Amino acid sequence: MVKRKVQTKKKIQAKKKVQPKKKVQAKKPQPKKPQEIKFIGQVTKIRQTEPATVIEWPRSLTHIHTYGLLSPFFEGLRKGELRATQCPNNKCSENRLWIPPRAHCPDCHSEMIWKTLPNPVIGKIYTFTEVVYAGTGIELSTPYWQIDVEIPGLATIPKSYLLYGKPYIGMTVKAEFRTKKPTNTVLDYYWVPYEQ
Ligand SMILES: [Zn+2]
Repeated sequence: MVKRKVQTKKKIQAKKKVQPKKKVQAKKPQPKKPQEIKFIGQVTKIRQTEPATVIEWPRSLTHIHTYGLLSPFFEGLRKGELRATQCPNNKCSENRLWIPPRAHCPDCHSEMIWKTLPNPVIGKIYTFTEVVYAGTGIELSTPYWQIDVEIPGLATIPKSYLLYGKPYIGMTVKAEFRTKKPTNTVLDYYWVPYEQ
């Protein structure tokens, strides 16, 4: 069927070429063809028709995300520094450092100040999980070791991942940074075994 259609079109085109221009002009002015709305999308693929029609409808979108007051944390990662926030209020019940950073103190709501942890940042694995099936949007190859690391001076036990090796509770690890081709996400810092 498709082939026939193409042939017909070719024939029509050939006829038009043969016809002298004058004859066309002599004809009554044709009413202008109304401008039609065109489909500019991608034709969907039918995945199944039974018991109901299911189509594959590819979508893509760019999510614009601001780091806001937490921007210094990501700026630090690009420079190979781990930065934490601290409550400047002396009367606050929590004056240790926070990673992930907080823009405001969860205890007294003061605006936090920034502290850079001196390199090398050494921590101890508090606990770990092997991630075999990562959720959509996790941009790490699986399986990987998700580790919670105790860092001296912190009020928190931040989650990250072990770049290589097998973790155990109490293992000493060192923070490293993806300063070359950074992802500009929290994945730009990770841990490596640091046994002496
Ligand atoms: Zn506070």
